[in-house]
Amino acid sequence: MVRRIYPCTYCGSVYANTLDHVIPHSYDHVHNKRTYSKDKVVPCCSECNTMLGNKLFDTISEKAAYLILKYNKKYKKLLSLPDWDEEELEEMEGRLKEKIVFNNRRKNNIKLKIDNCGLVRDVNPSINDIWEHL
Ligand SMILES: [Zn+2]
Repeated sequence: MVRRIYPCTYCGSVYANTLDHVIPHSYDHVHNKRTYSKDKVVPCCSECNTMLGNKLFDTISEKAAYLILKYNKKYKKLLSLPDWDEEELEEMEGRLKEKIVFNNRRKNNIKLKIDNCGLVRDVNPSINDIWEHL
């Protein structure tokens, strides 16, 4: 577990509650525990970490590119919903309006995550870059 609050390395989500092993984790047989040295892991939200699973990648950039595909696939339906402007929303009311506003927020949140993954893909930071900038 991450002890303080870090943003997710990939999607930029404010709360990275897990660590992603950029270099496959090693097992400390002497102390009988997994090692979590900062030169092997980066902060990661649980959603990105789950999507990355145990797949192996050579770079952080490749991981970010993979996540873009996964997020687009997982939220395909949400992302394909139409954009409503304020005027259109004002004409609506009740449960329908609530639902549209809620989905708009979710959609924008996912778009931000995908955009951030795009930046990470393009920059391809090293593990040291990540910790240095936190
Ligand atoms: Zn994330």
